[in-house]
Amino acid sequence: MQPYLYDSPTFRMACQQFDMVAEFMNIPEMARNRLKMPKRALAVSVPIRMDNGSTQVFMGYRVQHHLTLGPTKGGIRFHPEVTIGEVAALAMWMSWKCALVGLPYGGAKGGVTCDPKSLSLSELERLTRRYTQELIPVIGPQVDIPAPDVGTNEQVMAWIMDTYSLQIGHAVPGVVTGKPVLLGGSLGRREATGRGLAYLVSRTMDTLGMQAEGATAVIQGYGNVGSVAAISMAKQGIKIIAVSDAFGGIYNPKGLDLNKLNDHVAVSRSVVGFSEAEPITNEQLLLLPCDILVPAALERQITEGNAAKLNCRILAEGANGPTTPEADAILAQRSDIFVIPDILCNSGGVIVSYFEWVQDLQSFFWSEGEVLDKLFRLLEQAYMQTLNHARKHQISMRFAALSLGIKRVYDAKVVRGLYP
Ligand code: GLU
Repeated sequence: MQPYLYDSPTFRMACQQFDMVAEFMNIPEMARNRLKMPKRALAVSVPIRMDNGSTQVFMGYRVQHHLTLGPTKGGIRFHPEVTIGEVAALAMWMSWKCALVGLPYGGAKGGVTCDPKSLSLSELERLTRRYTQELIPVIGPQVDIPAPDVGTNEQVMAWIMDTYSLQIGHAVPGVVTGKPVLLGGSLGRREATGRGLAYLVSRTMDTLGMQAEGATAVIQGYGNVGSVAAISMAKQGIKIIAVSDAFGGIYNPKGLDLNKLNDHVAVSRSVVGFSEAEPITNEQLLLLPCDILVPAALERQITEGNAAKLNCRILAEGANGPTTPEADAILAQRSDIFVIPDILCNSGGVIVSYFEWVQDLQSFFWSEGEVLDKLFRLLEQAYMQTLNHARKHQISMRFAALSLGIKRVYDAKVVRGLYP
């Protein structure tokens, strides 16, 4: 079966990872395409009236990877480079991620090819509402539940919830997660991915016998994941020495003052130009000597071109798919680098999304303490299972995480059977 529709570097990368793991797990040939190929995909054109009176048409997508374990779940990305192939790869990774941490979901992802930074607030609202309208036949609390991803936030989720609810005729908070708490969002959801990442970094430091106090971290991407991960790691005593965003990076070997940096970002909308640091490019940043390197931006950043030159002890993948299979092959030869793979490392976000959905369905809301306690328990279990699996089979952490996730979906498909 040739996935022409999805063909793209990122989809090829997700397939390559799947094929290697399926081979290792001895999954029968016949079952492989059924597991790998997305179940459904919707492509829509999204016409928007722009502020200047013109009409512009954007392309939007939603891909649902498998429906075997429950509704599908995954974020919505607004970014100029969104393609249906990228969205399909991200949906596949959501499947393995949800299965790894034991959530009753298949994976999904959505996206609109646009530059949200160049849209006014009202253009962004019209884009979100029209895209939601086009998705109505395929989303819903029992069908497919979107959430934030690159370029979207709580406000975008509020518009999605409102547009869907107006169609249905009553408020449906469970159609989307990552909403404002006021509308049925969960306490702790906004911070969940970054906090979860910091928790796993701390557990990895225990495993490796490293001390947090005085350790250094470098973060690529200072959005919702990277900025919260920075604060959470700093609370553990880790020094954040460099961060970057789409506009460039900043570096201060003595450690960045995050309060001052966040004030600067609030005004200038970028880390660039922060007075207490020197400028650095995104490429240089990845190679800085540090204890913890956190790629928390886009996919395919650690490649065969830079993997051999990384200078970190822990690679904590906040982004989805930041490391190519070619780079993985190089990292496998480097016993000096411990990888916390994306589907484990950034799973805190979807875990608390799951909690949000459960709270919405029950209309019964939990304290932040309850949310965090349950989050750390699921992360601990997934971390230990992955570590033990990797050690037992002498495989990488990524291979271990993917094989645990894929196995759960495969087993579920086997017991459900093939209809008719
Ligand atoms: N976009 C996030 C991810 O890639 C969160 C998805 C969700 O919460 O459903 O994991």
